[in-house]
Amino acid sequence: LLEAVDLHKSFGPTPALDGAGLGVRAGEVVAVMGPSGSGKSTLLHCLAGILTPDRGTVRYRDVELSAMGDGQRSELRRTEFGFVFQFGQLVPELSCLENVALPLRLGSVKRKQAEARAREWLERLEVADVADKRPGETSGGQGQRVAVARALVTGPRVVFADEPTGALDSLNGERVMQLLVTAAKETNAAVVLVTHEPRVAAYSDREVVVRDGRSREMEPVT
Ligand code: ATP
Ligand code: MG
Repeated sequence: LLEAVDLHKSFGPTPALDGAGLGVRAGEVVAVMGPSGSGKSTLLHCLAGILTPDRGTVRYRDVELSAMGDGQRSELRRTEFGFVFQFGQLVPELSCLENVALPLRLGSVKRKQAEARAREWLERLEVADVADKRPGETSGGQGQRVAVARALVTGPRVVFADEPTGALDSLNGERVMQLLVTAAKETNAAVVLVTHEPRVAAYSDREVVVRDGRSREMEPVT
């Protein structure tokens, strides 16, 4: 579904990516692990078309991202991809319901319909009770569930999650992972999950380790 080959990217003298690659099939959950500063977020940003690599290719459904214009790439992100980050991704002025409805509204879905679908997703993520609160009035775990609902509401084909549970305690983190992976499997969405935590990575089908800008497939543990 999505494949990156031999990516190189430098921000300064030392490369952030130095030949990293990663392939993801439809419905597959891939965990990206590795030390801080090894290039995990940079790899995710290249895969999602947020960053353009200096060298190497990223293909989504056999179309090369670098061959698309900026407008086409952001349209692809809006319609095919969903994003969950560690924190600070919800619009503070909007209610949680409006936050989840926002990606649909940007795709010109009528307010009533968008909010009905947003409410269904809040229910699935077990946070229907915070629908009318602002993100600042929720707990960290509730906020991340709202963020997951927002990432999934458009029915993305790929969900990019960069340390989605990084700010949560382990119980909350595991529940958020369960909900994210269950929803992704039900909709056959692929997930690219960056995490430091082995317990979070355990929810993936496959693990890839990034070290010094290079990626390596982990042998499956049997
Ligand atoms: P962490 O686990 O701490 O999030 P990471 O594996 O996600 O780390 P990256 O954020 O990909 O690491 O960073 C890889 C390298 O690239 C680091 O040395 C970092 O300082 C550098 N880097 C990343 N983004 C930028 C940027 N926008 N400008 C300059 N340097 C950057
Ligand atoms: Mg990072």
